[in-house]
Amino acid sequence: MDMLSTTHWEKTGAPGIVTIDLQAIRRNYRRIATLVAPARASAVVKADAYGLGADKVAPALYDEGCRDFFVAQYHEALDLQPLLPADATLYVLNGLQPGIEADCARRAITPVLNSLEQVGRWRSAAQFAGRRLPALLQFDTGMSRLGMSPEEAEALASDDMLLSGIDIVYIMSHLACADEADDPHNAAQAEQMRRFSAMFPGVPVCFGNSAGSFLGETYRGALVRPGLALYGARPTDMLERPMEPVLTIEAAVVQTRTVPAGTSIGYSATHVTTETRRLATISLGYADGILRALSNRGAFFYENIRLPIVGRVSMDSTIIDISDLPEGALHLGSLVEFIGPHQSLEEVAELAGTISWEVLTSIGHRTFRQYR
Ligand SMILES: *Cc1c(COP(=O)(O)O)cnc(C)c1O
Repeated sequence: MDMLSTTHWEKTGAPGIVTIDLQAIRRNYRRIATLVAPARASAVVKADAYGLGADKVAPALYDEGCRDFFVAQYHEALDLQPLLPADATLYVLNGLQPGIEADCARRAITPVLNSLEQVGRWRSAAQFAGRRLPALLQFDTGMSRLGMSPEEAEALASDDMLLSGIDIVYIMSHLACADEADDPHNAAQAEQMRRFSAMFPGVPVCFGNSAGSFLGETYRGALVRPGLALYGARPTDMLERPMEPVLTIEAAVVQTRTVPAGTSIGYSATHVTTETRRLATISLGYADGILRALSNRGAFFYENIRLPIVGRVSMDSTIIDISDLPEGALHLGSLVEFIGPHQSLEEVAELAGTISWEVLTSIGHRTFRQYR
């Protein structure tokens, strides 16, 4: 954001402030990179770096030494490529969509090939380009989401022609239950991955996500793909030391009032006061990532005082009960905390009955964003 618009926000009052600590993201990356060495750590920056701004996050991680970046969609790779030096590699997890082969080859974006049909089109693209093209091959080890089956892997491994012109830079797979360290599904997936690996001797493996990176060597391969942990959330319960938080979300108060007993609050009047209460309406709602599931459940904080959400969260505003604060503590423009030192991303996710990934990617774009 340029100076003029920053001033504009400060003058008119931002509905909320999202603060993202790029240094903390870099330290989280460093921690994982150190943990997994000699394996290498990539960065998963799909969905706009989980809502935190891939245009800022990816270059910061490049400066921290990251050279491998995973996105989900091809257009995400197109957006990011100009922001990264040429020795950064962009991989597209969701596969090679029909029609983009030549463009993908020309731009040196590396597709993850998820089916024999995609392998076929990439092989043709290599033939057409007259040079070898890199790719990851994804195999399904037990999630049934993306990637090829053991039979398809056999077919590839037993017929050199099928992969002619393709440099397999990694074979990869994705863990379904890595956040539950002792789930037997993990070992079963690792075993299946060993079988895939045996079919492609000498090809390095790209395996664990954030949680997988912490599960130990078997779940890493040569390249891990952390996302969530970079962004400060706890990827697995077995982590002794949490990741460093990177995100603060604060919302501005736009109105306060005192209401008597028997007053109904918000859409559908789901909350009715039983005594005199003081309320504040804050300027963020579900369009900004204050998940509607937090209605009558979640809270904001002012310093260390919990201010419960009362009634339903609206699209652009949320009503909180501020009776526990001294009178006059909050007024138009005061900021209350949604995520920060007093309430973590995990706590918000838990209260909303969802996961940190969804809370992050729900953050809206109407707030003033600042990067530290
Ligand atoms: C999103 C994703 C990741 C990153 O997972 P986290 O749990 O956020 O670390 C890794 N690999 C694949 C295939 C993914 O889709």
